[in-house]
Amino acid sequence: MRTLPAAFWARVTKTDDCWLWTGAHDRDGYGAYTESRTKKWRAHRLAYVAMRGNHAPGLELDHRCEVRNCVRPDHLEPVTHAENVRRAALRRRRLQTAACPDIPSAGQAA
Ligand SMILES: [Zn+2]
Repeated sequence: MRTLPAAFWARVTKTDDCWLWTGAHDRDGYGAYTESRTKKWRAHRLAYVAMRGNHAPGLELDHRCEVRNCVRPDHLEPVTHAENVRRAALRRRRLQTAACPDIPSAGQAA
């Protein structure tokens, strides 16, 4: 475990729910934190490692809150890449279903 520097927290706005990263973002929409010229982090990963410690190698951090710039460790869950992809597909499907309420899902089709 380690203490996150003030420069990190200066870029975080805590809401009642998520801790939102307000600093730079990478092209995928994840918070980007530059620790040094040679060490760059995704902000949520640094927050997780600093407060929870390293998760098992090879796992990815899934945002259970579905907010990509959230850095709150208890909103992050280490999962396999396959599980992360599966969850992303489920969320996409849910969003599409919500956007098109008149189209029945496959389960409802006669
Ligand atoms: Zn969150």
